[in-house]
Amino acid sequence: MELIRTVKAMQARADARRRAGQTLALIPTMGALHAGHLALIEAARAHGDHLTVSVFVNPTQFGPGEDFDQYPRRLEQDMKALEDLGGVDVVFAPSVEEMYPGGQDRQRVWVDVEQLDAHLCGRYRPGHFKGVVTVVAKLFLSCKPHAAVFGLKDAQQFVILRRLSRDLLFGVEVVGVPTVREPDGLALSSRNVYLSPAQRAQAVVLSQAVTAARRLVEQGEQRVEGLVQTMLNVMGQAPDAHVQYAEVVDVETLQPLDRIAPGQDVLAAVAVFFGKTRLIDNAFVRAPGGGV
Ligand code: AMP
Repeated sequence: MELIRTVKAMQARADARRRAGQTLALIPTMGALHAGHLALIEAARAHGDHLTVSVFVNPTQFGPGEDFDQYPRRLEQDMKALEDLGGVDVVFAPSVEEMYPGGQDRQRVWVDVEQLDAHLCGRYRPGHFKGVVTVVAKLFLSCKPHAAVFGLKDAQQFVILRRLSRDLLFGVEVVGVPTVREPDGLALSSRNVYLSPAQRAQAVVLSQAVTAARRLVEQGEQRVEGLVQTMLNVMGQAPDAHVQYAEVVDVETLQPLDRIAPGQDVLAAVAVFFGKTRLIDNAFVRAPGGGV
């Protein structure tokens, strides 16, 4: 496993592997790797015979007052976890200067998102997806993958990045992997380390809320107002949970719905603060009916 620090060296490596006929898969991460990330790597094996894991805490996707400075950084530990897992060819861990030459304030060209960031996390984190999409475009241009693998835990990110590849003609196959969870249902996240024991115990309400919504949709519930209320009721059982949003949206447009149509694919999603720690969860679900 090779550690590559510069865009130039990464591009040279990718070009060489492509010339040798290999299929390249990229797994972008911000490090502090956990079993959720490792599941992405396992899934990537089916989409490439040369695997690159990128580790980059991207400053431009954090808003003012968010946790960019505290975000856990532990490249050595991450490298060890990847060595133990095996099968990863390259860790691409560029510096901020490498990805934003001269600093992010000097950057004049960005990749922007329309409509898809109007709801869910995008509504509450202005500029977040612009930062995500811009850095993923840079990662695509650095690592030159045929396929890139992302977690469905970050559902809005996944839907937007699929559009990035399609709309900007990257031609990268964007693959989504189901969320890996703790035994009690809490989605694994690098941010779970911020939770106190009491908050950690209560954080189970996120998965309980989206699971309750998923079951109701599967049973034929079409009225979104009732689904949202159910999610709020479940999360209301956690005294320290401050709900930022609970929404049910169409999976393609990410626009909120009043009523779910038979056979429609929807996303039930929540974001919750425990103190300063912000957690998200979601469930993809297809409504019954609508023919074959
Ligand atoms: P991050 O390091 O948090 O930026 O996440 C890197 C990638 O791992 C993203 O595609 C996430 O969606 C994915 N990911 C994070 N947590 C999980 C999880 N619990 N299960 C599956 N994928 C995850």
